[in-house]
Amino acid sequence: MKGLSSIIIIDDDPLIRLIVSKKLQAMGLDTYEAASGEEGLRLFDEIKADAVLLDVMMPSGMDGYTTCSALRNRTNGEHLPILMMTGLEDVESINQAYEAGATDFITKPLNTTLLGHRVRYLLKGSQVTQQLLQSKQRLHQMAYYDELTELPNRLFFLEYLQRMIAQAERQKTKMGVLFIDLDGFKRINDTLGHHVGDQVLRVIGERLYKSIRANDALARSASERDDVSLARLGGDEFTLLLTALDRNESAMTVAERIRVNLAQPIVLGEHELVTTTSIGIAIYPDDGETAEDLLKHADLAMYYAKRTGGDMYRYFSWKMTEIALRRLVLENHLRKAIERGELELYYQPQLDIVHGKFNGLEALLRWRNSELGSVSPAEFIPLAEDTGLIISIGEWVLREACAQIQNWRSRGFPLDRIAVNVSAVQFLHRGFSGVVERILNETGLEPEVLELELTESALVSDVDYVMNVLTQLKKIGVQLAIDDFGTGYSSLSRLKSFPIDRLKVDQTFVRNLEQSTNDSAIASAIIAMAGSMDMKVTAEGVESDFQLDFLKKKYCDEAQGYLLSKPLAALEFEQFLMKSNAIASADG
Ligand code: C2E
Ligand code: MG
Ligand code: MG
Repeated sequence: MKGLSSIIIIDDDPLIRLIVSKKLQAMGLDTYEAASGEEGLRLFDEIKADAVLLDVMMPSGMDGYTTCSALRNRTNGEHLPILMMTGLEDVESINQAYEAGATDFITKPLNTTLLGHRVRYLLKGSQVTQQLLQSKQRLHQMAYYDELTELPNRLFFLEYLQRMIAQAERQKTKMGVLFIDLDGFKRINDTLGHHVGDQVLRVIGERLYKSIRANDALARSASERDDVSLARLGGDEFTLLLTALDRNESAMTVAERIRVNLAQPIVLGEHELVTTTSIGIAIYPDDGETAEDLLKHADLAMYYAKRTGGDMYRYFSWKMTEIALRRLVLENHLRKAIERGELELYYQPQLDIVHGKFNGLEALLRWRNSELGSVSPAEFIPLAEDTGLIISIGEWVLREACAQIQNWRSRGFPLDRIAVNVSAVQFLHRGFSGVVERILNETGLEPEVLELELTESALVSDVDYVMNVLTQLKKIGVQLAIDDFGTGYSSLSRLKSFPIDRLKVDQTFVRNLEQSTNDSAIASAIIAMAGSMDMKVTAEGVESDFQLDFLKKKYCDEAQGYLLSKPLAALEFEQFLMKSNAIASADG
């Protein structure tokens, strides 16, 4: 027993108090004295006592029994060891003492040696109780809180939301559920490691906490009362409950503040990270009347915010559920698309403008399902990226494309380049360059023939990691192109340092060459810039002779578009090549 335990002695007899005090102090305990039940209670509220010694017979004010029950009802009083001191030895008084909640009793006149043992025993018992309580608290903590951020977890949030729904229903008030998700968190985790990812989540948790603490007259966060309205659901997903919303629009004030706060750069050692946030908002009772529905719908709205570019908030609308249903159906079918042989590559010829020959092509993925019909890559590629299916699909595309061009080349078709689209998710996935190398080995294709079309979004994350992968790919010997160039946000200076062989001018600039002087200026600038940086340029979406002439005059290297040919199935492509080569040789 350490000298840390403190005991309150409640007795109207000053001499008894003195004797008991001295004895306990000699045992290394701190003692506090009270001359009445009332004083004892006041003292107990003031100091955190570990045990109480209580006289039964106190002539003025509360007697020991009443004081004992009062102590039991105090906060922290439930498990407090209370030792009753009584001169009455009859069964009746002893029963009464236990009924009032005494832990033990000792008779007067006091035997101080016995008293010492009793107190020691009492405190030991209470330590065991304390340990039990603490481990109970730990269990509670583990079940209801997120260890990383120390915020409540999904279970807690759902239970809390349920309770608040019941209250809002009675009081006829509105509430808002915010579903908060970081944009591109997976990329941080994948490129900088989980350790950095965890730190980012901790910072985000703190910022969210602070964002909702700032008082908001419009939409008060329930956290101002009890701090549980904010939770981490898992991963990079957080939720916030706004109670007593005056109008649906009030939720966006909070959402906007969170969006802005979370967009501030996070500095972690040598890294400065910028993450944006997508937020979905669902309103009770308009968007759902159960905790599950509200959460699901806020999640769905968040998904839409993310899909439309991220860094924004979106309110839930019932239309979203229809679209989500379609996604679910698509996803289920897409999972089986490879094994069922539903994927096919189409090939779009690329014209070498200077020599007037087709010796390159781009492989474009097609998906035909017996139930859904043809699904556009614009619809299923993003889905494949979200679900991670793009990894296996992308690998299938690479293998198929390499095998196909190898087949054509071995049969004498004059083709020296096949371009394959690589999604950012695929490119940033660990082991990508290894996959490329393996497929080249398997198919026996010369590496220079394969051109990987990367998007700018793949290149804007962690520079070191990206550079590393690009270098590995160049070492293997493949060509690298940037697709849809001009629409992204890659900085030129950064681009310069990357080993890129080709830029593909985005369709939007080519489309408006005739009408927009602005777009033709951009297209010209990209072509000139690529030239000065020793890169080739391909213009995509060429649909008219005017556009082709323009590109020719600007010394653009290659053109691809409906004017020349749509993407074709393998057999059609062969026929196209034979025809166009025949024309070319007839011309020459
Ligand atoms: P992208 O890589 O920029 O491909 C060019 C898209 O423009 C193709 O659409 C093509 O059919 C279309 N296109 C070609 N010429 C013209 C034209 O003159 N006018 C117009 N309006 N469009 C033209 P598609 O095949 O629907 O593919 C759409 C996008 O889906 C692709 O854009 C690419 O980002 C993605 N994608 C396609 N196949 C794959 C793939 O195997 N892997 C990955 N990761 N993405 C793919
Ligand atoms: Mg492409
Ligand atoms: Mg493109």
